[in-house]
Amino acid sequence: MQVYIGLGSNLAEPVKQINWAIDALNTLADTAVIKQSSLYSSPPMGPQDQPDYVNAVVLIDTELSPHLLLDGLQAIEQQQGRVRKRHWGERTIDLDILIYDDVVIDDQRLQLPHPGIADRSFVLYPLAEIAPDIDIPILGDIRQLVENCPPAGIHLLEKN
Ligand code: AMP
Repeated sequence: MQVYIGLGSNLAEPVKQINWAIDALNTLADTAVIKQSSLYSSPPMGPQDQPDYVNAVVLIDTELSPHLLLDGLQAIEQQQGRVRKRHWGERTIDLDILIYDDVVIDDQRLQLPHPGIADRSFVLYPLAEIAPDIDIPILGDIRQLVENCPPAGIHLLEKN
């Protein structure tokens, strides 16, 4: 299955955190990272008294089911010492399943496609970089989504 993962970090050397998480994704069972976006910097959502974020999106190929993949992402978050301090607060690493093939899920643990895609430039712009033609279930054509989502302070940090 083709799956897009969103990564974000704003603590403890964020660029390293993102790169470690990408390496860790490659070690999940039956999973390989296929494509990686550039790194972007974006101002925080929610509380403003926290550092800017580093964001990226990767495409993986995986045989894990959506829920087993979420288990894997949460294990990586734990390994990298993620401590939840406050809602939308600072974190060493945040991993979200953005799109899982053409799967639509809305249960207690998992929403797919991820509900934040359309209005978060720090997700949409790196996603559009590696999937410029994607038609996302429910949300539609990515070009249209990008047109309707202002950059909101996001900028390119490290081109891939
Ligand atoms: P966050 O604060 O972004 O790390 O939110 C984590 C929570 O979101 C977890 O408890 C997940 O069960 C839930 N969640 C729902 N949909 C998704 C998704 N598509 N990817 C990752 N986490 C999700």
